[in-house]
Amino acid sequence: MIIRENIPISELVTMRIGGNARYVFELEDKEDIKNLISELKNHNIDKWYFLGAGANTFATDAGFDGAIIVNKIANIIFKGDGDKIHFKVSAGMDWDFFVERTTKEGCTGIECLAGIPGTVGAAPVQNIGAYGQEVATTITKIHALDMEKDELIELDPSECDFSYRHSIFNSTARGKYYIYEVDFTLEKGEIKGELYGSLQKYLDDNNITSREPKVLAEAVRNVRDSKLPDPKEIASSGSFFKNVYVDESKVAELDEKGIPHHGTKVNTGWLIENAGLKGKVFYGFKVSDKAALVLINESGKSYEDMQKAVKEISDTVEAKFGFKLEQEPNVIGK
Ligand SMILES: Cc1cc2nc3c(=O)[nH]c(=O)nc-3n(C[C@H](O)[C@H](O)[C@H](O)COP(=O)(O)OP(=O)(O)OC[C@H]3O[C@@H](n4cnc5c(N)ncnc54)[C@H](O)[C@@H]3O)c2cc1C
Repeated sequence: MIIRENIPISELVTMRIGGNARYVFELEDKEDIKNLISELKNHNIDKWYFLGAGANTFATDAGFDGAIIVNKIANIIFKGDGDKIHFKVSAGMDWDFFVERTTKEGCTGIECLAGIPGTVGAAPVQNIGAYGQEVATTITKIHALDMEKDELIELDPSECDFSYRHSIFNSTARGKYYIYEVDFTLEKGEIKGELYGSLQKYLDDNNITSREPKVLAEAVRNVRDSKLPDPKEIASSGSFFKNVYVDESKVAELDEKGIPHHGTKVNTGWLIENAGLKGKVFYGFKVSDKAALVLINESGKSYEDMQKAVKEISDTVEAKFGFKLEQEPNVIGK
């Protein structure tokens, strides 16, 4: 285990915002996971935060007076079982690398989640999703350290309460389970049914008729690259605002007002764009001109400025459409 002190959180997260962390603990093997609680006790730490690649996280300017725990273990083991392949993947593995591995084996299930930045360990936390797929449908077991009992445990998906951008790991059990390995079962074959509109359009425009997983994964990466910022070059947390959901009873009202929606899910990017905010810059933070849900850190230096920008954006949308926007990324220490 590597233990570092006084580390700027801004260097660990893709939004590049956050003060210093008192400690960063980097876990390098399974022994480090078993020894984690005793190491925290040895350093008198009673506050911790689990961090992957920091693609959905930032911190306040005050930083974090505890330990940020980062998993650097990145192994994949897999075995075939007829038409199925079972994968056992360490939490520190890069998500897109794992997707690529599965599509090389001809597996369907997560090919539309190609190109999502981050680690395998964080994928179940908000049940990552894109282009009609969600990771939860492919998870068979989660291996975690129970931080209260100091015990290695296993969780079935039925115990994780997965739904849209939600699980126990970002709600009722936040900070309780340190995920160190995830098991997935994928099937060999091709995706069935209708594809997400923008993905199908890309395939049509490029005369691609194959639905082979590796072909679809590459198409998804290309569609994403054309509208989402690459975190290595442009600071952002991806979608900054969650899509707004309304009660079933309000759906007719959306139609009357001409607000696009998918069932009870309001197209929140449309709300931001039609409030005239696309491409506008507030305190160094820009509403992306390609995807309005995305906030780009162009020259912002502080969490405080980011919050001022978010307030202006939210207030403008609320004044025009009456919907309150909710932030998607996590804030360390809050
Ligand atoms: C350009 C861009 C595009 C994106 N597109 C999408 C998209 O299409 N769909 C989507 O769903 N998301 C998307 N995201 C968000 C992000 O990629 C996902 O949330 C991803 O899972 C974050 O992984 P990470 O390792 O960076 O997690 P982090 O940001 O480091 O952590 C995220 C959360 O998971 C917790 N966590 C991390 N590791 C563990 C662990 N081992 N055990 C327990 N808890 C843990 C953290 O405490 C935190 O609450 C996008 C982000 C960016 C920057």
